[in-house]
Amino acid sequence: MTAKSAGKSPAKVDVAVVGAGPSGMACAILFARQGFSTALIAPSGPSEDGRTTALLDSSVEMLKNLGLWDAIRPHAAPLSHMRIIDATERLIRAPEIVFDASELKLEAFGYNVENKDLNAILAKACKGEKDLQRFNALADTLTIGAQSVSISLDNGVIVEAALTIGADGRRSKVRDAAGIEVSEWRYPQSALVLNLEHHVPHYNHSTEFHTRSDPFTLVPLPGRRSSLVCVVDPDTAETLKRLPDEELALEIERRAQSAYGAMKVAGSRQCYPLGGLSAKTVARNRCALVGEAAHVFPPIGAQGLNLGLRDVAALGEIVANARQQGIDIGSGEVLSRYERARRPDILSRTTGVDLLNRSLLTDLLPVQLARSAGLYLAGKVGPLRRLLMREGIAPMFSRPRLMKGFSLPRAS
Ligand SMILES: Cc1cc2nc3c(=O)[nH]c(=O)nc-3n(C[C@H](O)[C@H](O)[C@H](O)COP(=O)(O)OP(=O)(O)OC[C@H]3O[C@@H](n4cnc5c(N)ncnc54)[C@H](O)[C@@H]3O)c2cc1C
Repeated sequence: MTAKSAGKSPAKVDVAVVGAGPSGMACAILFARQGFSTALIAPSGPSEDGRTTALLDSSVEMLKNLGLWDAIRPHAAPLSHMRIIDATERLIRAPEIVFDASELKLEAFGYNVENKDLNAILAKACKGEKDLQRFNALADTLTIGAQSVSISLDNGVIVEAALTIGADGRRSKVRDAAGIEVSEWRYPQSALVLNLEHHVPHYNHSTEFHTRSDPFTLVPLPGRRSSLVCVVDPDTAETLKRLPDEELALEIERRAQSAYGAMKVAGSRQCYPLGGLSAKTVARNRCALVGEAAHVFPPIGAQGLNLGLRDVAALGEIVANARQQGIDIGSGEVLSRYERARRPDILSRTTGVDLLNRSLLTDLLPVQLARSAGLYLAGKVGPLRRLLMREGIAPMFSRPRLMKGFSLPRAS
């Protein structure tokens, strides 16, 4: 919709999704697919996101259910093995451990795809949804009423929705308008992100080197390519980012202990300062949060967007059930169901990633000992290893039906 709609009566929809990152687009597709009239509000434009996302098995299941996986799969590389190498050079170190997806009878734990490809496929799918209307503008102000939320866009258009979904990232306007507070924290780390070509095949291995500033992770891409997430202190990240291609490639090869042979930097480099954020509640005042509007943490174990997609799948299920029961989809009852469904998963992931990251940063001997012993046991004890692998993909206790192979309920 363009600015010429300004001044007209509000566009009334069941659901408004603010933000068209991967969480927002997946969310808009899911709601439209279930027959809710849906507005997707966000400026359009090419994705400049140079990151990749390891979509874990449960997210893949959801994307299959939405009919999107066939388009994504050719751009993705399977993650069949996950290797953790303790490169902390500390007195107490963990042994190398390898998790193998075949132990869970899976081809892969997940698939790694470039965000620019994922976002382009989701954006194309949004265009094909008949119940989805895209508003190419920023949400400017939100007014919360008894029956609906009124959203004024920066092109003068007004959208009114029974339920508003904040998928507008860590600085979420929807969250602020709903009066939801956050806890926010910083880590003394930045992530340098880039893609590499390498001489030695990756054999679908994702390798996480736990260094002192941790982690340094290579995740497979199609061909002899991998994506790198190199977490270091912010000054080092900036210094590395400015190195000429050849010098940077040599430095990465050194840090990767030459496991991938000679390397070549392919494409742009980006730096992300690391921090964490946790919304005190994920739903309030006719607004529900998904993705980084609700939770942010460091890129360890490929959890961020996978958690965001679980928010989306759970919210879609809860709201569709409410409609079937004749309950107002933006009511406090529905929002409480969503909060109860998501709190344990979000809390356990946020705490788990934070503890792991801090355990790598600390020099305290007892913490190093506990971490090394944990990894040692994970490597040696089969049932524990399989439990960790299963829970790493998605906790069984809060896996929405859409991620368990149940097909999408359609609107009547
Ligand atoms: C280095 C790195 C590597 C990562 N790797 C992985 C991984 O392997 N696996 C994984 O699961 N996760 C990973 N993550 C996390 C993942 O990238 C994020 O969880 C994900 O991108 C968040 O998506 P989102 O849609 O919630 O938010 P965003 O991508 O931040 O999207 C928010 C959108 O909202 C829009 N917006 C903001 N304000 C407004 C407004 N007022 N009106 C309209 N639109 C608005 C923005 O323009 C943006 O497009 C990684 C993160 C980092 C930093």
